[in-house]
Amino acid sequence: MRLSILQYGDPVLRAKGKRIDPIDDRIRDLAANMIETMHAANGVGLAAQQIGEAIQLTVLDVSQVEDRPTTMKLNGQEVDPKSVMPLVLVNPQVELGREIEPGTEGCLSFPEVTGEIDRAKSIHVRAQDLDGAAIEIETAGFLARAIQHEVDHLNGILFIDRMSSAAKTSLSSKLKKLQKETQHGLKHRQRAVAETTL
Ligand code: ZN
Repeated sequence: MRLSILQYGDPVLRAKGKRIDPIDDRIRDLAANMIETMHAANGVGLAAQQIGEAIQLTVLDVSQVEDRPTTMKLNGQEVDPKSVMPLVLVNPQVELGREIEPGTEGCLSFPEVTGEIDRAKSIHVRAQDLDGAAIEIETAGFLARAIQHEVDHLNGILFIDRMSSAAKTSLSSKLKKLQKETQHGLKHRQRAVAETTL
């Protein structure tokens, strides 16, 4: 089932995600719906906050990205990243490598906004899969960037927070407009709920 993706201005995007325990069928269904939603929107990642749930769950799929390479080890074994996509991370913890590189990012919660963001080139991730098994990922390149972007979402951090102040200033009218549209939509939804519950 496709879910609707929250846009900038929705307060859930600023909420820190709760740790998931236990990992049950509700979480597995949610992850499946998030993967469907991400694919339908041509995204490479989607965090639970973006579909209205402040929990530590994110899905990724970088298999269609040909021009931005990724290297990856899963549980100590070198793997072809494409062979493990889509990737679901539950309760991820990220350790950043020292080397930083700039790169262009967009976000499904910010239509038509892109920006240059500095991120660690390589990361070490500990997480759980949907069976609750511990997984360990070492990755560099595009997947490392995508995971950092998604894990930021799980902590209520958005990519605009990591843009230079000059970049943010040049986007400010676009961001204000988006925020206004979202708030208008939220009011509308609340009114619709009130009308149906009367
Ligand atoms: Zn995003």
